[in-house]
Parts: sequence; structure tokens; C-alpha cells
Amino acid sequence: MQTWQRNASCVGLDSSIFYPPTDREAGRAKAVCAECPVRQDCLEFALTVREKEGVWGGLTAVERQRLVRRRRRQRRAALASTG
Ligand code: SF4
Repeated sequence: MQTWQRNASCVGLDSSIFYPPTDREAGRAKAVCAECPVRQDCLEFALTVREKEGVWGGLTAVERQRLVRRRRRQRRAALASTG
């Protein structure tokens, strides 16, 4: 267990909430994550381990993929602007 997970708002909750069948059904998980004090740690962990399933840090897998692509574009743009 990661240290940050001790403070997670989802501790003790039914984990199936965080693995909804579709993104449209991720509302309950996202509501919990929105109040979670370790949301950013959770999100970065999921990105680092390339977690393919579930809601982590308030984002679904599809939303995390979008974030990864957005960050990649931003890094490329930053590199291009510095020459
Ligand atoms: S952000 Fe969501 S999934 Fe991550 S630890 Fe907090 S409540 Fe759990």
C-alpha cells in the first residue's frame, strides 16, 4: 500500500463503485474522489503505473488517456518554444 492510500476517501467503500461498467456511470466514484485529500497522488500513481481500469484521482481510464495525450502535447510545445 502506498502511504497516500491511508488517507484515501475510498478506504472501506465498495470498490465496485470505482469500476463502473461505463464512464456514464462513474458519477458516484467521481463524487468521492472530488472530496478526497489524496486525489492528485492517486491520479499520478494511476498514470505512472498506466492503470487501464477504473476511476483513479477522479478520472476514468478514457479521461486519463486524454490527460496523458494533453500533457505530451504540452511538453512538446514547451520544448519547441525553447528551441
Ligand atoms: S482519488 Fe478517488 S480513487 Fe483515488 S484515493 Fe481518492 S477516493 Fe480513492
